[in-house]
Amino acid sequence: MAQCRGVPPEISHNDQVMSPPIVPDSPGPVNVVLIGPPGSGKGTQAVRLAERYSIPHISTGEILRSAVRAGTDLGRQVADTLAKGSLVSDDLMTALVCARLSEPDTAAGFVLDGFPRTVTQAAALDRMLGQAPMIVILIEVPDGEIVRRMGTRRVCDSCRLTQSVADAFHPDTEPCPYCGGNLVRRPDDEPDTVRHRLATYAQYATPVIEHYRSRLSFAVVDGVQHADKVAAAVAEHIDRLRLQRQ
Ligand code: ADP
Repeated sequence: MAQCRGVPPEISHNDQVMSPPIVPDSPGPVNVVLIGPPGSGKGTQAVRLAERYSIPHISTGEILRSAVRAGTDLGRQVADTLAKGSLVSDDLMTALVCARLSEPDTAAGFVLDGFPRTVTQAAALDRMLGQAPMIVILIEVPDGEIVRRMGTRRVCDSCRLTQSVADAFHPDTEPCPYCGGNLVRRPDDEPDTVRHRLATYAQYATPVIEHYRSRLSFAVVDGVQHADKVAAAVAEHIDRLRLQRQ
């Protein structure tokens, strides 16, 4: 895409099968922003969208977690914040996303997962994108369902695939069904941290949603249905907007 060359000064401070994508003659980039509470399935949907439209999946949480694993400067800077389930500063996140959106693989679009989380970040993203189209989709899931999901969420320490395990899951006997690696709980999926992340989401999400709600490109999708159905609803919204753009 990206109108991100040169960060503006205010930023630098601080069981349904999807139909194939309908590709208009000059569709323009598919710039998609997924918002929703932790555990709402943004990551799962982002992976599908990335494949469907051949665009990169940009997960700010994954960028930060891999920096922590690799022990980079960024990783050391954010490790405590991630462990607590609090938010990394707007300045740092904005600079990070701005740099990522400036990379050439975003020319055909991107799926942004985890950003923006605050109104300051949302305003910064508007400035980065300028006149470029942006499709914002809120995946809605109530708190009770989130807590249930996070209790069974595991990530493979080898292939990094996030998956959900049965309540009677036994980590020593049940390896990752895809690669045989160990299924482990993400450190910030421990129950206390989940509660803190949900409280943080509740505090910041409403104004971010209000920032987008009046836009024609904004849609709310029910996240408490099979992932295939969520994917179909998300794709339908994106394809409808792309057709209108022609
Ligand atoms: P979640 O499952 O909570 O949506 P993510 O993988 O998106 O988790 O993010 C994990 C953590 O990374 C967050 O709890 C937060 O500490 C940090 N983080 C990710 N994106 C942002 C952001 N846009 N602003 C501030 N902190 C962020």
